[in-house]
Amino acid sequence: MKSIHETVDVVIAGGGTAGHVAAIQAARAGVTTSVIEAGSMLGGTMTAGGVYMPNHFFSPHGPVVQGIPWELYTKTKEIEGLEVPDYRKRRPAESPGHYSYINIPIYSAVAEEEALHAGVILHYHEFIADIQAVGGFWEITSYGRGVQRITKAKEIIDCSGDADIVRLLGLEVLKSKVTQPGALQYKIEDIEYEQVWKEEVQTIYEEAMESGDLKQGDFAYANMEPFKYYLDHGGHNATHIYNANTYDADGQTRANIEGRERMLRMFKFVRTSIPGGERAVLKMMAPHALARETFHALGEYVITRDDFINAVDFEDKVCNAFNYVDMHSQEIGCEVQFLESDDLLPKVPYRALIPKGSWRITVAGRNVSANRVAFAGIRAQCTCMSMGQAMGAAAALAVQRGVTSREVNSQDIVALTVEHGAVPV
Ligand SMILES: Cc1cc2nc3c(=O)[nH]c(=O)nc-3n(C[C@H](O)[C@H](O)[C@H](O)COP(=O)(O)OP(=O)(O)OC[C@H]3O[C@@H](n4cnc5c(N)ncnc54)[C@H](O)[C@@H]3O)c2cc1C
Repeated sequence: MKSIHETVDVVIAGGGTAGHVAAIQAARAGVTTSVIEAGSMLGGTMTAGGVYMPNHFFSPHGPVVQGIPWELYTKTKEIEGLEVPDYRKRRPAESPGHYSYINIPIYSAVAEEEALHAGVILHYHEFIADIQAVGGFWEITSYGRGVQRITKAKEIIDCSGDADIVRLLGLEVLKSKVTQPGALQYKIEDIEYEQVWKEEVQTIYEEAMESGDLKQGDFAYANMEPFKYYLDHGGHNATHIYNANTYDADGQTRANIEGRERMLRMFKFVRTSIPGGERAVLKMMAPHALARETFHALGEYVITRDDFINAVDFEDKVCNAFNYVDMHSQEIGCEVQFLESDDLLPKVPYRALIPKGSWRITVAGRNVSANRVAFAGIRAQCTCMSMGQAMGAAAALAVQRGVTSREVNSQDIVALTVEHGAVPV
């Protein structure tokens, strides 16, 4: 195994939803930046996880997330030859699902191109396994096939989604007793629609559930929508994997195996039991089954449900967090709670992105310090990307000023992100 030593200003741990934006922001702000990513592409849950619906660039009142995330999104639309929808006209205000959809292959390529163009050093297929503080620096050890890399850096941003770096450092983490189910995304297409009737299909689905041919969670939205919804939705399913603990390799293995068992069960059911499903084709499966939540950092502040629902205007806010509370559970299925008024625009305070008692490390994305309900609103992709942009800016400012990230003022962070296109908060 080769042992390689590298020195950069900032390491991004995980190039997922938050991490790729953090990297581009830090590099564009002028500091040397590397991404160490266990997978094979940028985007994490958005790309390798098959969750191609970033919420929300817009609230019913206007833009809430712009900057680097919006730039990447609009670039992919341009390449696809698609117009960017006018989100304000798109959906009624009582259903603020101002969804946008990305094309996964194009998005991952565009994000990569922009990262490389900004000067980001990319290391795929490498897993961060150790981190030590040595003087005023971090020494980060990652392993890939045939490679042991020891990276010296001034700042690290934990964008691992499961607080991997926070846990490696022995800092405190949060984990709810009951977490939301994980999911495997796949798509069954080519169902002959003229033969499919809503009521008939519903009866067939219910009989299959009773006989055990299908299991609870195989169709993820059973409590909200009839089974026909699934067929109408282009055969796209996010099958539920209860108790998915993907924060270690054993949990990841179990989640992937269970996800594929569920997928095959559904495919066999559609082919053999749904009229018109005889020639259905299983077209797409995301490479990774994922959890919605596992460990996250205990920060200098824990965002509560009331903070989120009432859109508390934190003094140290760094980005917007517009979303509904999106809870999934085995007992209830999907449960969505909207903010009380469209005028409310929740925020993320800087303190929730600084692990308690730490220096030279911040977190972004699913690692945010929030309680269970607030977390179910904040973990949306546009918010994760915005947190990434803000923490990329914080790390760059810290390096350039010769201080630690926790000493950087939140207003300066926002000002730098605004220079790079973000919405002022
Ligand atoms: C099933 C499901 C449906 C969802 N639906 C929506 C939706 O419709 N709209 C929406 O906006 N949001 C949705 N979300 C939420 C949203 O997708 C996630 O909360 C968000 O993408 C998480 O971003 P992240 O950057 O924290 O983590 P990720 O995007 O998961 O990125 C983490 C990255 O870190 C890497 N990594 C982890 N550990 C290490 C390590 N030790 N070393 C190196 N690399 C490492 C991983 O490989 C990964 O690439 C959904 C989530 C799930 C699971």
